Amino acid sequence: MAVESLSITVLGSGTSVGVPTIGCHCAVCRSDDPRDKRLRPSIYVRYGDRGILIDSTPDFRQQALRAGIERVEAILYTHSHADHIMGLDDVRPFNFRQGGVIPIYGAAEHIENIQRCFHYIFSNHKSESSVPRLATHVFDSAPIDLFGLEFVPVRLCHGRGTVHGFRFGQAAYLTDHSDIPEESMGLLAGLDVLFLDALRHRPHPTHSTVERSLESVGRLAPKRAFFTHICHDLAHAATEQMLPPHVRLAYDGLELTVSGARG
Ligand SMILES: [Zn+2]
Ligand SMILES: [Zn+2]
Ligand SMILES: [Zn+2]
Repeated sequence: MAVESLSITVLGSGTSVGVPTIGCHCAVCRSDDPRDKRLRPSIYVRYGDRGILIDSTPDFRQQALRAGIERVEAILYTHSHADHIMGLDDVRPFNFRQGGVIPIYGAAEHIENIQRCFHYIFSNHKSESSVPRLATHVFDSAPIDLFGLEFVPVRLCHGRGTVHGFRFGQAAYLTDHSDIPEESMGLLAGLDVLFLDALRHRPHPTHSTVERSLESVGRLAPKRAFFTHICHDLAHAATEQMLPPHVRLAYDGLELTVSGARG
């Protein structure tokens, strides 16, 4: 059955160390604006009675409680950096509630890293305590059909590494990247909502900046764009004042509804 609409909840909009950053006394880390409090980067996609998680951050438990998440039918991984995977153990309550295994999807290299990092989950030795019950799936470029909605992997450059964003319905989520390869641009045309990495203003070897992501938005021309994976260089309110009206900073708890139809 076709998915008519889906909701996207931003669980975290922060960079790998989060904002506030431990020990930092800068204006953004001390800000009272709740939009300047950024947990590690992740979104939750809901349609019908299904819930799909993109990345399981070290803050996942807190994020799931805050967003009232009651189901996780699958997890899609953009890549295996610590800020995107370290909450994986905290999916156990969904195993208990839902029964059965939770499928997780990633590119081969990143699934291997997850298996190495969480060796106790994937080991054949029977554990005396509970471990997440998961089924691993490796994707390449083919769309992944999850309960009637296609998630299209979008290859991205993250410094020298390769990671993936995902296009689904009229939205796409492109966290950590320094470049969008030419062949991926075609997958991103005609979007209603585009999430993009924009770490800060200053250049970074593995992340896009506000300026670079504004260029990507200019080329891809989505109706609306939201920057994410933001560090403490960017104050929410002051940064938005410099941006065109259809480009905003994502913030933790932001919820959007988009069409599930492919454009
Ligand atoms: Zn990251
Ligand atoms: Zn700071
Ligand atoms: Zn990364």
